[in-house]
Order: sequence, then C-alpha cells, then structure tokens
Amino acid sequence: MKDAKLVAKAHANHTSEIVITPTVTVGGQQLFIVGGPCAIESMAQMETIAQAHLPIQGLRGGIYKPRTSPYAFQGLGEVGLDILSAIRQRYGLPVVTEVMAIHQIEKLLPHADVLQVGSRNMQNFDLLKALGEIDKPVLLKRGLAATVAEFVMAAEYIASHGNPNIILCERGIRSFDSYTRNVLDLGAVVALKQITHLPVLVDPSHATGKRELVAGLARGAIAAGADGLMIECHPEPEQSVSDARQTLSLEAMAELVHSLIPIAQAVNRSIPSPVMS
Ligand code: PEP
Ligand code: MN
Repeated sequence: MKDAKLVAKAHANHTSEIVITPTVTVGGQQLFIVGGPCAIESMAQMETIAQAHLPIQGLRGGIYKPRTSPYAFQGLGEVGLDILSAIRQRYGLPVVTEVMAIHQIEKLLPHADVLQVGSRNMQNFDLLKALGEIDKPVLLKRGLAATVAEFVMAAEYIASHGNPNIILCERGIRSFDSYTRNVLDLGAVVALKQITHLPVLVDPSHATGKRELVAGLARGAIAAGADGLMIECHPEPEQSVSDARQTLSLEAMAELVHSLIPIAQAVNRSIPSPVMS
C-alpha cells in the first residue's frame, strides 16, 4: 500500500485506540460491540432495545438509509434523529449512525458519537474529505466491490483531510455465490490489521444476510483479530422494515455476545460490561 502514509502501520506494534466517549474506546484490549436495528423505526423500538441492557458498547440505527430501490423505506430522517438523540441522552449509550451526504454531517454531529460511511459511499471522495474536517470518529465500511487497497486509500482520504479517528469495517464483498448476501472476507481483516494501525470491525449481518449465519462468523471474526463487531438486532426481527432476514432477536444478540467471551480470552481481548447507565 505504497501511497498510504497516515493510516499505514509504522511498526509491528503500531495500533490506534480511537476514543468514542470518555469511557468507550475501540482498538485497545477491549472489544467494541455495536448492536441495533438496521433502521430506526420508532421510539418504542429503540426504548425496548435500550431497556434490554444488551452487553454492547454502542447502539446502531440508520435514519438515512441507502436503499437499492427508491420506493423502499428511506429512513425516518430528522424524526429518527430526535429518537436517536433522546435514547442516547436517556441511556448514555454511544450511538453510531450513517451519514449519506455532506449536508447531513452538521445535523448528525451533535447527536451521534460515530458517523458511519456505508458501503455504497466508500469512494464518495467529497464525503470522505468533508469527514476529514471533523474530529468525531468515522466508521468506514468496505465498498461492496472494493479491493483492500481501495479501502485503505478511502481511509487515507479521511486521515489526509485532518481526521485521524477512523474505524474500518469489513462487511462482505460481492462474489459469484448468492447463497450468502455477500462473502465475508476475513482474510482482509487480518491483512488490514497488518497494513494499517486502525481498528477493524466486522459486520457479519450484511456479510451473510442470514441470521442463522451471524453468530458463527462473529466468533470467527474475533478469533481472526477483529477489534469488534457491528450486528443488527431488533425486538421483533421478522418485523424489521429493512434487513429482517439477517436481523437477530435481542435474546440471540445477548447470547451471541456471551458466546464470544472464551474466544476473546483466547486472543487476549476482553468484552467490557455494558455502558448503559
Ligand atoms: C448498514 O450498516 O446499515 C448498511 C447499510 O450497511 P452497508 O453499508 O455495509 O451495506
Ligand atoms: Mn441493514
């Protein structure tokens, strides 16, 4: 990766720990596990998730949704932002939400702890440059057909415009087999940990598209050295307005995290207790 200057590892032990809040970091010894619905649907949905006291360190939920069809649910927009903001204040859990366009950055900044760049925007260079101007952490998801080198250089765009707080996320890439929605590239996770000093998360939900495959790949990702996970869960997964087929129940989500404990220990990592007050 000869052109990567700022995100490239300077030496073998060079790793960056990104500060999400004063008590939550990613890239250190502790894993960072983010859970929540694909899209924020209602206050009741988010209250139920928050009150479940899941063993997670971050809550996700899209309010601006990049959908394949323009006729599909596009997210609640600003109404969703009010819900996200209320839940964040009430329960003290850091929130991660997707930013699709430059003009949304300003709206999201006061209410989100991490701004996510979705797969479809990984090479939206103007958006990446604009996110380089802020100092909040950016969670950059791998493009659905992006090479590892393109992924690293997308992160370099953000870093070179001034924001070093970047978290990478492998979410599966397109391949010939439609059995799974995408193909989870764990090789890329190991490679990214060797090439860059940035934390690397894995999203087994979008990688597989099937809820019964999520836990196994989540365990594999932690064993492979990922710094955390992003997983979709919902109080009524079958009723999710988007990505229902890959969404876990809250019970399955909690069970999954517990099943990671011995795997985390085996690779000298630990799972922090939930952050919620
Ligand atoms: C998401 O995380 O909500 C999402 C849309 O994922 P991706 O960009 O990886 O498809
Ligand atoms: Mn989704």
